[in-house]
Amino acid sequence: MTVQRGWNFLQTPGPTNIPNRVLNAMHTPAVEFAGPEFQAFCTSLFTDLTTLFKTDGRVFIYAANGHGAWEAALTNSLSPGDKVLIPETGRFGLSWGDMGRTLQIEPEILPNDWRSAIDPADVEARLSADTNHEIKAVLLVHTDTATGITCDVAAVRAAMDAANHPALLMVDTIASLMTTDFRMDEWGVDVTVAAGQKGIMLPPGLAFCAVNEKALEVHKTSTMPRGYWDWTYRMNEEVFYMAFCGTAPEQLLFGLRAAIDMLWEEGFDNVFARHARLSSAVRAGIDTWAEAGALELFARNVDERSNAVTAILVDPAYDPVHVRNICRENFNLALGNGLGKVAKETFRIGHMGDLNEPMVFGTLASVEAGLKLAGVPYKSGGVEAAIEVLTAS
Ligand SMILES: *Cc1c(COP(=O)(O)O)cnc(C)c1O
Repeated sequence: MTVQRGWNFLQTPGPTNIPNRVLNAMHTPAVEFAGPEFQAFCTSLFTDLTTLFKTDGRVFIYAANGHGAWEAALTNSLSPGDKVLIPETGRFGLSWGDMGRTLQIEPEILPNDWRSAIDPADVEARLSADTNHEIKAVLLVHTDTATGITCDVAAVRAAMDAANHPALLMVDTIASLMTTDFRMDEWGVDVTVAAGQKGIMLPPGLAFCAVNEKALEVHKTSTMPRGYWDWTYRMNEEVFYMAFCGTAPEQLLFGLRAAIDMLWEEGFDNVFARHARLSSAVRAGIDTWAEAGALELFARNVDERSNAVTAILVDPAYDPVHVRNICRENFNLALGNGLGKVAKETFRIGHMGDLNEPMVFGTLASVEAGLKLAGVPYKSGGVEAAIEVLTAS
């Protein structure tokens, strides 16, 4: 193996770059986790987490990755045999449904072209036709990481209300939270699913469910078998141990404290604006390369392109895996692979979390060099295009 010097550029759409402040906060010996100090620390952490979701509801923390939060949301609020509706956003919506199937839930996919956001009118039409209210939940992915498209959650809630349908709205914000605005209560989301290793800048290992009153009511009658994930178990106020169903992931929680403090200090709106700026610079670079005809932004519509990740469609004459391998081996740059039905035709640049302008410049320059070595036709000047965007007032 060749010796690598300098930074590894981790521009994957999760895990993301971890700030030194978060790493340092985690570099702490274990503490007595039933002791009063740690309990007080956790109590404020649970409260402060609600600000990320913009909810007055309750947040549950799991020592898990995003898949754990998916399972927690399904097992706590559904029963075997329940139908759920999944607007097709990309690979992640489908995978959430696949997990449902293993839990004896019946997912129905509302088909959609992956290159544009789902149409809330389709959701309204389908729910209006469900006069017996057999559909118990709508599972929606806010930003599908396979496509780089962000959908309009509030519009989906409006569509559900227009259909006068009682289904729960469950939203996967694993890729979107803290890269773009998300307003759980205002948008009428009943269950929000999230994980730490993307916009929240943590190492992998923490997952979250934010839950409102309506979902907690439905939870009471849900008969899905569950143990570790159980919300009721975790709400036991008497026994602190139960909040984590066992030993708390202490160091990750210390990291989370630092991450929340950093996000607060920057201000959420500034965090979202930074992501919007940096992602538009990435897209400007790709649009420039695309002029040679071999590449294209996967997300067709400008206002649906995500702040978190960009998928790039590559002419079938060229292999995106080859581009990624060259970038990794020559430039110590990690990019995201293609996923699902576009696995062979796309690669992805992650731009979420702890990211600044020089990181965008370095990434674009390295990808451009990778395209050159891979023999993929591109119009040069991607970095210049990004400089234009990031120096515009
Ligand atoms: C990353 C991601 C997941 C999966 O999270 P893991 O931590 O890998 O289990 C699910 N949904 C979306 C939208 C994601 O971006």
